[in-house]
Amino acid sequence: MKRDTQCLHAGYTPGNGDPRVMPIVQSTTYVYDSTDAVAEVFDDPTQGIIYSRFANPTVDAVEQKVATLEGGVAAMATSSGQAATLISILNLCSAGDSFIASPSIYGGTLNLFNITFKRLGIECIFVDQNASLDELNASFKENTKAVFGETLANPALTVLDIEKFAKAAHDHGVPLIVDNTFATPILCRPIEWGADIVVHSTSKYMDGHALQVGGMIVDAGTFDYTNGNFPEFTEPDESYHGTVYTEKYPEAPYLTKARMQLMRDFGCYPSAHSAFLLNLGLETLAVRMRQHCQNAQAVAEFLESSDKIKKVIYPGLPSDDGHALAKKYLPEGTSGVISFIVDGGRAQAVKFMDSLQLASNEVHVADIRTCVLHPASATHRQLSDEELVMAGIEGGMIRFSVGLEDVDDILDDIKRGLDAM
Ligand SMILES: *Cc1c(COP(=O)(O)O)cnc(C)c1O
Repeated sequence: MKRDTQCLHAGYTPGNGDPRVMPIVQSTTYVYDSTDAVAEVFDDPTQGIIYSRFANPTVDAVEQKVATLEGGVAAMATSSGQAATLISILNLCSAGDSFIASPSIYGGTLNLFNITFKRLGIECIFVDQNASLDELNASFKENTKAVFGETLANPALTVLDIEKFAKAAHDHGVPLIVDNTFATPILCRPIEWGADIVVHSTSKYMDGHALQVGGMIVDAGTFDYTNGNFPEFTEPDESYHGTVYTEKYPEAPYLTKARMQLMRDFGCYPSAHSAFLLNLGLETLAVRMRQHCQNAQAVAEFLESSDKIKKVIYPGLPSDDGHALAKKYLPEGTSGVISFIVDGGRAQAVKFMDSLQLASNEVHVADIRTCVLHPASATHRQLSDEELVMAGIEGGMIRFSVGLEDVDDILDDIKRGLDAM
């Protein structure tokens, strides 16, 4: 099946007389014929569903859809994107380990990596994503267990050189994790470029309608965890009656361990109803992404032509620093999110924002409705003007998430904002 078809049909194939739509299986638990039958599913939880803290038939269908879309072998949904990132790292790193990440990532991920993981004894080594392969290689330590980056970073909109990061990771015997939230598998499939694990905040384009916070982890099934660096995969798991993940689940040891060990222990699993809503979003993902990209390209070109705008950051523009990488990794478009800096700093940015009538001022992004955020007043409010510059956020910067309205209406709204400046 092609991508558009997978969006509609992957993960659930109704049999004779079954409901057309994947039903919401709203049950915490599942009934078995005998004590032995229960014991069997405990021996191999991939053979049946035990409890909705880590598996559910409705969620399972959506997991399979996302695994198919990303070209992976298995996927696990989580209750938020943050939970997906947390588990993706904890499945590889314990106290005393380190991992490498590009600093051009989502602010919530930065806090998790820089502060919370430090408290857990896990070190994050930040390496600029424009670093050469040599610099990247030099940053690995003996205890480095993973490499992490974002395909299209939120909010910096930098494009990750996935092949370069994959090569460095693989030369050191560790997997590459890519957060593919903004690109979605419609615009980029990181596994095709060497990523071993893909994570998502499904709260953004996958849901797309601002309905539901959620996350997803996809296992490419390609990384060799028997290379000596990952004893938790190759030695018996005492918390799961001696399971050796690479032996018992050679197809997807990473995902199976994440579910049986970490999801069982943490329980940050979505409800069946959440998965049902996510599936509704996924069904139209391909169509929506094309339109988001088309509208955003027109908006970015318009903004670039205005003399009241100092700079437009959108990798779809030939003038953008990330354009060459975008042509390689995101040839069909670079999502609906644009950052731009208005002339006149914070005061003019606020005037622009407060004059908009169509775009809503909110802390969200990647919605079907156009929305806008002033990072210096919201997500980065605690920083001084100097600190803002260091973080790459200027007072005049606006993050504009282009929705699916008629692009003429979006442009009229922007003109209203520019006139008010
Ligand atoms: C929003 C976001 C997250 C966090 O996801 P939540 O669903 O809000 O927990 C992680 N990564 C990226 C790139 C995001 O945009």
